[in-house]
Amino acid sequence: MNEVKLRFHLIGRFKLSKNGAEAKDDVAGVIDDANKNILKKGAPEGGGAEVVSWNVDDTIMVEIKSDRYVRAHDALLRLRKALTRILGKRRIGIRGIEVEKFIITIPTEKPLRKLKIPFVKDMQYKNGNILLELDVAEPQIESRVPDRIITLIVDKIESQKYGKKEHWELLWESKEKTLRFTGDPTQELIKRRWIKHGSCRGQWIFGPQITKVLRTFEQIVEEEILRPLGYHEMVFPKVVAWDVWKRSGHAKAIYPEMYYVCPPKTRDETYWEDIMDYYKVTLEVPLDMIKERIDKPIGGLCYAQCPPAWGFLEGETLPDDILPIRVFDKSGTSHRYESGGIRGIERMDEFHRIELLWIGTPEQITEHSKKLQERYKHIFENILDLQWRMAWVTPWFMAQEGLGGLAEKKEVGTIDYEAFMPYSKKWMEFQNLSNNGDKYPNGFNVKLQSGEELWSGCSGIGLERWAAAFFAQKGLDAGDWPSGLRRRVKTLPEVFRFL
Ligand code: ATP
Ligand code: ZN
Ligand code: MG
Repeated sequence: MNEVKLRFHLIGRFKLSKNGAEAKDDVAGVIDDANKNILKKGAPEGGGAEVVSWNVDDTIMVEIKSDRYVRAHDALLRLRKALTRILGKRRIGIRGIEVEKFIITIPTEKPLRKLKIPFVKDMQYKNGNILLELDVAEPQIESRVPDRIITLIVDKIESQKYGKKEHWELLWESKEKTLRFTGDPTQELIKRRWIKHGSCRGQWIFGPQITKVLRTFEQIVEEEILRPLGYHEMVFPKVVAWDVWKRSGHAKAIYPEMYYVCPPKTRDETYWEDIMDYYKVTLEVPLDMIKERIDKPIGGLCYAQCPPAWGFLEGETLPDDILPIRVFDKSGTSHRYESGGIRGIERMDEFHRIELLWIGTPEQITEHSKKLQERYKHIFENILDLQWRMAWVTPWFMAQEGLGGLAEKKEVGTIDYEAFMPYSKKWMEFQNLSNNGDKYPNGFNVKLQSGEELWSGCSGIGLERWAAAFFAQKGLDAGDWPSGLRRRVKTLPEVFRFL
C-alpha cells in the first residue's frame, strides 16, 4: 500500500474576514517559505507538496500539487496555520476553507467498476490511473475523509489484483485414520431422527442423542482445556450493537452475512392493535404492515462471539499481574446469513460455539496459543481420533501488508482446524484459533498499567462442526466410536418413538 504513487491536485480558498490585498507581500513570503520548508517536511528529497499558483483578494486562493508524502489536503492545513499567524498581525482572520477542486490520481493496471463513495463526485479511468474528483469541505479535510477514501480505493485495487482468497499454508497433518462411515452425516442424522429441520432457514432441532454428544464435546473441552488451562466462564451478550462492531472492525464488511435486530417503534398496544386484529381475522401475519412499524436495526445477532465481551474492559487500564486473562463463553447461539451456502449441520444460519478469549502481553498470547494447540491436538488425536490438519490462513490484505512481518512470522493471524469429510472428499474447517495482536485492545481502548503492549487471542469451537467431522468419519453407531468418547457419552438417551 505504501508503494502506491499517489498524486494530488487541489484548488482551495481561505475565506478572509476582510480583503487581504494589503497583506499580499506577507502571503507571498509565507508561500515561498512553505514551498521550501513546511510543505516538504517529512518528505524525501524532491518530494512533498508545492503551491504552484496563488492569489489574494477577498479570499486567498492556492493551487497545490503534491505526492503521497505531504498530501495536498494536509498541505492546505499546514498553510492555514502559517497564514493565520502572519495575517493575525494585520487583524485579518481566516474564516474557513473552501475546496474548489480536488483530484487524486491513483495508478492501477485495471479500472475499478463505478462505485458510489461518499464525497466522491466523479471517478474516471485514464491512461492507467483512477482519477478521483472529491467534493469535500473543511470538516471532511479536518476529519481525514480523503485519506480514508484513498485507503478504500487502494484496498479495492489490491483485492481486484489478488482476489478475496485467503492465503492457505499447511502447518500440520494427522496420519490417515480408520474411517468407519462414508455417508453424509446430516442425512444419516435425519434418517435416525437425531435432528430435524427447524422452522427457520439453516436451523436444526437437536434431539436427545446428538445433544448428549454435543454436551460430551463440551465436557471434553472443559476437562482437557478449560480446567487445566485455568479458564473462567463469562456470559457474553448475544445481541450486538453497531458500536461494538465499529470497534471490532466488523462494521466494515458484516452486512451481507448478519442477522439484523429491529425493535418496535413503540410498545404502545394501540399502535399495534390493527396488526393484532388483522392477524385474528385473517390468520396471516401482515409483514408489510409490520415493516412500517419497526425501527432501524440497533445491531444484529451474535456473529463472532467475542466482540461484545470487550465492553467489559472498554476504556479501562489493567494491572499487569492479572494477566494472562482466560475466559470463555458458551451462553448462546451464533447467527449468520449463509445464503445458498447452507449445508446440513456443517453450515447453518444458527449454530453453537464455545469461544475462548485470552488477553495478555504479546509473549503471553503467543505462549498460550501454543499450549492450546497442544491441548487441541491431544483431543483430536487421542479422544476423537480424527483425520485432521492445521493450516495458517491469512486474508489477502494481511498477506500483502505483512503486518510488519508479524503475519509472516506466524504470530498475528489465524490457524484453521480442518477435518477430512469422506463423503465429499473435501476438508471442512471445524474450529479456529487466532492471535489477534493489538486489534481488540486498540479498538476498545484497553491499556496495561505498565504501558506494555496488550494483545489478545480467541478460539471459536464450533460444536456442530465437531459433530459433523466426527460423524462423517466415525458414523452414528456408538460401537464404532473411539473409547475415549464412548466412555464419556455412556448411553445415548432413547426418548422419542414415532407412529
Ligand atoms: P467458513 O469458512 O467455514 O465459513 P468462517 O471462516 O466463516 O468459516 P469463522 O468466522 O472463523 O468461520 O468462525 C469460527 C468458527 O465458527 C468456525 O471454525 C466454525 O467452527 C464456526 N462456524 C462459522 N460459521 C458457521 C456456520 N455457518 N455453521 C456452523 N459453524 C460455523
Ligand atoms: Zn473471537
Ligand atoms: Mg463463513
